[in-house]
Amino acid sequence: MKIFNGLKSWVNERKNIKGSVGFVPTMGALHAGHLALITQSRQENDLTVCSIFVNPTQFNNAEDLQNYPRTEAADADKLRTAGCDVLLIPPAAEVYASIPRISFAFDGLDKAMEGQHRPGHFNGVALIVSKLLHWVNPDRAYFGQKDWQQFVIVRQLVRDLSFPVSVIACPTVREPDGLALSSRNQRLSAAQRQQAPQIYRVLQAAATHLHAGISPAQVTQTAMETLAATAGFDPEYFVVADAETLQPINKMPDTGRIILATAVYLRPVRLIDNLLIDVSSAKTP
Ligand code: AMP
Repeated sequence: MKIFNGLKSWVNERKNIKGSVGFVPTMGALHAGHLALITQSRQENDLTVCSIFVNPTQFNNAEDLQNYPRTEAADADKLRTAGCDVLLIPPAAEVYASIPRISFAFDGLDKAMEGQHRPGHFNGVALIVSKLLHWVNPDRAYFGQKDWQQFVIVRQLVRDLSFPVSVIACPTVREPDGLALSSRNQRLSAAQRQQAPQIYRVLQAAATHLHAGISPAQVTQTAMETLAATAGFDPEYFVVADAETLQPINKMPDTGRIILATAVYLRPVRLIDNLLIDVSSAKTP
């Protein structure tokens, strides 16, 4: 695996790459969820590029940025073992060589769900993804379903700005007890780690209730109550929404996909998770 710590040397190298390129952007502290994206990219491309960049413009909380785990040497080992070809670690001074003045708006996609609680977050995501897509110029870019709203917004960004890339969502990788893998899980206490799988159980129960004909409003209320009643949990939101528009729904549609999404504080850690439901086939992938 080749490691590039500077953008210039990478951009020069990129010019000589002939085959298809798959790209997996990350913020490091890599786990099996990230590595599943690498594996899928390797299956579908001649060359796989992973980037590690803890992007300051997408953090709306200084403490979260400060405490974000940084484990570059271990990350590089994992990527090597996973068969990644290129690791790009751009320095912040190069990525933000000038203070950005651009801002992105996504006609409501960025105001729903996470957007209500993390002002500016998706602006920072759109900015860094745009920059990285220019530098890496991949044929395919891989994102986790765990951050469904991020995937929907990046897909829109790529359509609106005609980036020549296919944006691909990959299934959420979970611990055996159902907890979605996240770099933030490392910060949970032993007691919090034991409680955390309750998030996934509540999502699954909500899906069952929706299939049984209970209204989205009632399901949402029950889910919030159950989360709030769990020791150490401080739920921020729970929504039942259209998976493409991200707008909350009042009744189950006959076709298409819906997303059940939630954010819960296990203080000071904030965890998110979701379930995507294909209504037509009544499957929960
Ligand atoms: P991050 O480093 O948290 O910015 O994540 C980098 C990419 O990995 C994003 O596309 C995430 O959605 C994805 N990802 C994070 N956790 C998981 C997971 N548990 N399963 C699948 N993909 C994930």
